[in-house]
Amino acid sequence: MTPKVATQARMDNPPQLAIFRAMSSDCDILIVGGGLNGPALALALAEVGQRVTVIDALPLKRRKSSGFDGRSYAMALTSTRLLQGIGVWDDLVGDAQPMLDIKVTDGRAGEGPSPFFMHFDHAEIEEGPMGYMVEDRHLRPVLLDALKKHKGIKQLSGETVVSQETDATGVTVTLASGKALRGKLLVGCDGRGSGTATRAGITRTGWDYGQTALVCAVEHERPHHGIAHQFFMPPGPLAILPLTGNRSSIVWSETHDNARQINAMSVEDYLSVLRPRFGSFLGGFSLAGERFTYPLSLSLANSLVAPRIALVGDAAHGVHPIAGQGLNAGVRDVAALAEVLTDALRRGEDIGAAAVLTRYQTWRRFDNTTLALATDTFNRLFSNDNPVLRTLRDVGMGIVGNMPSLRRAFIREAAGLTGDLPRLLKGQKL
Ligand SMILES: Cc1cc2nc3c(=O)[nH]c(=O)nc-3n(C[C@H](O)[C@H](O)[C@H](O)COP(=O)(O)OP(=O)(O)OC[C@H]3O[C@@H](n4cnc5c(N)ncnc54)[C@H](O)[C@@H]3O)c2cc1C
Repeated sequence: MTPKVATQARMDNPPQLAIFRAMSSDCDILIVGGGLNGPALALALAEVGQRVTVIDALPLKRRKSSGFDGRSYAMALTSTRLLQGIGVWDDLVGDAQPMLDIKVTDGRAGEGPSPFFMHFDHAEIEEGPMGYMVEDRHLRPVLLDALKKHKGIKQLSGETVVSQETDATGVTVTLASGKALRGKLLVGCDGRGSGTATRAGITRTGWDYGQTALVCAVEHERPHHGIAHQFFMPPGPLAILPLTGNRSSIVWSETHDNARQINAMSVEDYLSVLRPRFGSFLGGFSLAGERFTYPLSLSLANSLVAPRIALVGDAAHGVHPIAGQGLNAGVRDVAALAEVLTDALRRGEDIGAAAVLTRYQTWRRFDNTTLALATDTFNRLFSNDNPVLRTLRDVGMGIVGNMPSLRRAFIREAAGLTGDLPRLLKGQKL
């Protein structure tokens, strides 16, 4: 159709107005946020023929920074299936550490672990390791390189979305540079302070945990044998998560004041505070890479959708890292939204239609709210020294640790194998 005919059709025939506008879109799907979930979603959707534009406020060089900054993710087995499905796992698996066992213990700094503990061994399920530890310095560049290579994806870096406007046929975003882009659907993958959500009038529920996570990686003398440890300490949990070689990732939560003081210390003093919490089971250890701090809060969007808008990842749910499930929940959003949109396309539906987006919300809302409540409750139950609660949780851990069916349920949960799994998380094609 020539532009002239199109213009004529636009004036004479209102239904064709929609077709005209849809044709004038810059892409099918606009994704704001090129962190981790944004690129994963873009790759999944581009594979089913969608033209996707990913916009991120940070310049590409900063997003891709290859220095080791100590950040790592415990990715559930099902999350690694999605990475396989979008074609990036083969480039990551060589640097990923399988998580074979998880040990959970109650303790106080310097006192050693309590005799009550839970031990989850992957050998109790058939699917394989519960998951893999993947370092941020590997995951981010692999995702960004895959975006660059895909013909269906356009990346805009160093561009901030400042406004968005939806109408019956599409959504237009305006960048700080003044440029405007149009698509049929806008997906907010812009993190826990999501501007996409705010501009759409989506409110949030949340609170500050009064805790800051101290994050680093350590190199130790003895092998970790693929075992992840979670120690519950009164000021907050300490996770020791296995990385490749004799290295572990540390996520150590303290009160804001404690964390501020500890982080300001010299490396030697920092390690001397960590040592009594860490214990001696891995021998002597030293810092490997930089130290980071993250203030911890809950931030749950009260809706996952608005007209022609969907929220994914931390934009939808920023949770406590106590169970290392934040990114895994985002990956579940990615897999569910990609499947809902793919099925809608196959049925000939408009991917931005309210009925389509409601299917996504219905699928993910309960799961996300349950995760937020569970991590919140665990943190409150374990991050204190109340003798009654201490006794109750130690007895609870003893019971779970000794009941094979409960143990297996926990292992399946950690591996992400429970619930209504989207196809990509089952290892199937979209
Ligand atoms: C201490 C700690 C440990 C953790 N450990 C684990 C773990 O072991 N396992 C796990 O599953 N999860 C873990 N998490 C959670 C995980 O880090 C997050 O869930 C994940 O990083 C969220 O990714 P995202 O892509 O949704 O958002 P983000 O990574 O926050 O990305 C958002 C992106 O949006 C961009 N952006 C924002 N606004 C705009 C705008 N207006 N215009 C353009 N771009 C914009 C930003 O530049 C950014 O790149 C942990 C979190 C913390 C704090």
